[in-house]
Amino acid sequence: MNELRCKVLVIGGGPGGYVAAIRAGQLGLDTILVEENKLGGTCLNVGCIPSKALIHAAGAAHGLREPRALNAIGLSVGPPKLDFAGAIAWKDGIVARLTSGVGALLKKAKVRTLLGSATIVDGKTATVRADTGETRIAAEHLLLATGSEPVELPALKFGGDILSSTDALALTEVPRSLAVVGAGYIGMELGIAFAKLGANVTIVEALPKILPLYDAELTQPVARRLADLGVETLLGVRALAHAEGALKVMGADGKERAVRADKVLVAVGRRARTGGFGLESLDLAMSGANVRIDERCATSMRNVWAIGDLTGEPMLAHRAMAQGETVAEIIAGSKRVFDMKAIPAICFTDPEIVAVGLSPDAAKSAHGEIRVGHFPFRANGRAMTLQDDEGFVRVTARADNHLVLGIHAVGQGVSELSAAFSLALEMGARLEDIALTIHAHPTMSEAFHESALAALGHPLHI
Ligand code: FAD
Ligand code: NAD
Repeated sequence: MNELRCKVLVIGGGPGGYVAAIRAGQLGLDTILVEENKLGGTCLNVGCIPSKALIHAAGAAHGLREPRALNAIGLSVGPPKLDFAGAIAWKDGIVARLTSGVGALLKKAKVRTLLGSATIVDGKTATVRADTGETRIAAEHLLLATGSEPVELPALKFGGDILSSTDALALTEVPRSLAVVGAGYIGMELGIAFAKLGANVTIVEALPKILPLYDAELTQPVARRLADLGVETLLGVRALAHAEGALKVMGADGKERAVRADKVLVAVGRRARTGGFGLESLDLAMSGANVRIDERCATSMRNVWAIGDLTGEPMLAHRAMAQGETVAEIIAGSKRVFDMKAIPAICFTDPEIVAVGLSPDAAKSAHGEIRVGHFPFRANGRAMTLQDDEGFVRVTARADNHLVLGIHAVGQGVSELSAAFSLALEMGARLEDIALTIHAHPTMSEAFHESALAALGHPLHI
């Protein structure tokens, strides 16, 4: 068996692990990263990037198939022909470019990368099984970044026509009918994409609302879009079983019905990947099914750290990356904590939703009296020129000192406003800070400015 030593051993090469390793390498820490599958983890290979590629391809295809918007600007096109396998190959090309880029970045930071499966021996040692043999690695610090995996429903086990998000992103044909179980992030993003690609989509959600993470005001425009796309949404409904092209479901009233479904996408959440690699031998303190960490991302064992999806919600790539960077800097001697005031959450639905900080209800419960300012995109020139003026920006602030507590938006392309929203919250902005910032014209970000003015009682353009 090969023997290696290092200062930092990172298990898992997803956005949490690879960013931690790059930063550790930059800081001069002798670092080894072990990845059993492909560098880039869930995010680059079967998550954020491929799903956003599919969403883009679906939007383009839909724009041609429903050319009302094109006709409105004087364009007409012939009937489009979709080569779905071609779209998937394009998506795979983007993934390959990004994952090979990660390999190059690790190399540049002088990180040693081992492709193989790591098994923890103790808090300072792991073995790695690779095609080329076994390696034992002794490290001063062990950083766990093994991510998460999709939750399976007992009656709808993955395989055949029952798809996980990974399977759905690898389809080579658009299914004629698709039932999506779970109206959370994945179900809504991919459900809308497949509806735009031409599938007959039905969404089955156990709770009485779609996207339960967001307040109803934000999700209404998405619900309207689902109806426009002909997506049937069954709320308060449980999926029972799938057979012969139909998904049997049961409503809150106990009545059963069958939904046409050549394929079923099960997207009912993800769970931390804690099994199968000797983690239990460390007997770490847990928080439910997730590894428990403190504000430094330290586990209950000295010099064993955990980041990303392994540590639970919010399971977001940018949170994993920020935690990875934090831990690398702490190991290198910085006094840092993972103290993000604001972790933006974006749902890449049509229209997109952005949430940073507290909703008005949560702000009221936590801080008492609040001010809320809205500005609709229908009063925003740029949104009109982009042919989509659905949605709004909403700012929530304390009533006494105008400290901004939450910023939310729903609308076309609002994901790109998230940076301004997060920065405002992270910097402790007051309504007046946003109101006194000059926002370029014509941009959708003017709606952010106007929402702060609205909260102060003097919007200009409405
Ligand atoms: P992961 O990315 O899961 O990486 C963990 C890595 O560890 C994996 O590569 C795995 O192979 C490796 N590993 C596990 N065990 C071992 C072992 N024993 N030895 C060696 N290697 C091991 N988040 C967003 O912020 N924005 C989005 O738009 C978004 N879209 C998503 C879309 C989909 C369809 C999915 C499924 C997820 C999406 N996410 C999104 C979530 C995001 O992908 C995760 O939050 C992120 O990947 C978590 O990073 P991580 O490093 O913690 O874990
Ligand atoms: P989710 O937690 O977002 O949504 C799961 C949904 O399934 C919920 O609405 C839940 O009520 C519903 N549900 C649970 N059990 C059910 C059942 N038996 N029948 C019907 N509905 C049921 O989970 P997800 O969509 O699988 O996504 C997993 C994680 O991946 C998310 O937590 C998120 O952090 C991450 N993700 C993020 C993005 C993004 O940032 N844009 C995109 C995709 C995934």
